[in-house]
Amino acid sequence: MAKIKFKTPDVRLMMRERLSYFSLCVKSLFFNAHLSQSYIADILLEPIFKFVDSKVFTRYLGPFFVITVCGLTSAVVFICYYVGLPYWMQKSEITTYFLLIIGNWLLFNVVFHYFMAATTDPGVVNLSEAYNAVSICKKCLVPKPPRTHHCSICNRCILKFDHHCAFLNQCIGFYNHRYFFLYMVYTVLGVIFIITFGIGIGYEVLWLSDGGAWEEKEQEKLEGALVRYNLTGHLIPVTEVHYEDLGITPKTHHNLPIGELNDTLVYRLISFVAVVVIAVIIALGSLTVWHYLLISRGETSVESHINKSEQKRYAAMGKTFKNPYDFGKYNNWKLFLGLKKGRSFIRHVVFPSAHKPEGDGFTWLTVDDDENLRVNEHHL
Ligand SMILES: [Zn+2]
Ligand SMILES: [Zn+2]
Repeated sequence: MAKIKFKTPDVRLMMRERLSYFSLCVKSLFFNAHLSQSYIADILLEPIFKFVDSKVFTRYLGPFFVITVCGLTSAVVFICYYVGLPYWMQKSEITTYFLLIIGNWLLFNVVFHYFMAATTDPGVVNLSEAYNAVSICKKCLVPKPPRTHHCSICNRCILKFDHHCAFLNQCIGFYNHRYFFLYMVYTVLGVIFIITFGIGIGYEVLWLSDGGAWEEKEQEKLEGALVRYNLTGHLIPVTEVHYEDLGITPKTHHNLPIGELNDTLVYRLISFVAVVVIAVIIALGSLTVWHYLLISRGETSVESHINKSEQKRYAAMGKTFKNPYDFGKYNNWKLFLGLKKGRSFIRHVVFPSAHKPEGDGFTWLTVDDDENLRVNEHHL
C-alpha cells in the first residue's frame, strides 16, 4: 500500500482521523445492543428535565421572574414619568392631572393585585378540615376535595388549583385566583393607557425624528439664483433679505411639543417601552381573554382540559356533559369576584379589596344541588 506524504499537514484529514478515533473509543466503551439515537437523546436531555422539574428551578428561576416583572414594571413607570409627564404638561395641564389620576389608579391596582397574588397562600389541603374527598393524591397521599389538584412544581395539593405561575413564583388557587386575574386585567388596561397616551410621543420621536443618529452630510451645491414659484407659473427671483433690515427678530427656538427631550436617550427609552408594551399586550392580553372565557364558564385551567375530555366521553355515549360549577355567566362572575354580602363592583373591583372568596375551598356546591340550598348558601 502506497503511503502519501504531505508536505504540510492536512487539517481536515487530521480532524477526521481524530473524530473517528474518538467515536471508536466512545462506542467501544458504551455500545450495547439497545443503544439508539433516541436513547442517547433521552440520556443527554435528562439533566435538563431534572433541572426544570427540580426545586432548584422553582427556587432560583421563580424569584428571577418576579424580579424581572418588578424591574420591567418599574422601568416602564419611570419612563412614563420622565418622558410622558413633561410632554403632556406642555400640551395641556388639565389633561395631565386627569392622566396622573387615571395612571396612578391603574398602577396602584397593578401593584396591589400582583403583591396579593404573589403573597397570598393559594390554599392547601388541611386534614383537620371535614370534607368529602373525590380522589386521593398519588404524590401527597391525601384525600383530595373537589377541584383540588396537585402542583408538581410546589409538590403540594392546591385547593381549586388553576396553574403554577412562574411570573408570580406561586400557585394560582382558591385564595389568590381573583388577585391573579385582576392583576392581568389592570396590567392590560395600564398598557392600553400607555399606548393611547404615548402613541403621539412614539410617533414624533420614533417616526418623525432621526433618533439622535443624524449626521450632517455635505450637500451638493445648488447653482443659479433663488426663485419663488407662484400659482401663475411665473418664476420670481428672490433677493436676499435680512431679518434685521426689516426690523424682525427671528425666533431662536421652535416651540415643538417635545422640545429638548428629542435626543438619543429618549429615543432609546421610548423604543424600550414600545417593545415592552407590544409584548405585554399580545402575551398578557391573550391570556386575560382566555381566563375571562374560563371564568365565564365556571372552569379553572385544569378543569377546562378535564371538561373537554369529559365532553368527548359523554358524546361517545350519546349524552351531554355539563360542568357542575357553571351557574351561568353572571353568577359565575359574581361568585368569582366575591360580590356578595353587600359588596359592590365599584368598591371591591374598581378599587383594591382584600376580601376573601366565598366558602372554604373544600366543599363546593354544584348546579345539581337543591335550588333552595343554593339560594340560602353563599353561592348565589
Ligand atoms: Zn398532591
Ligand atoms: Zn405551584
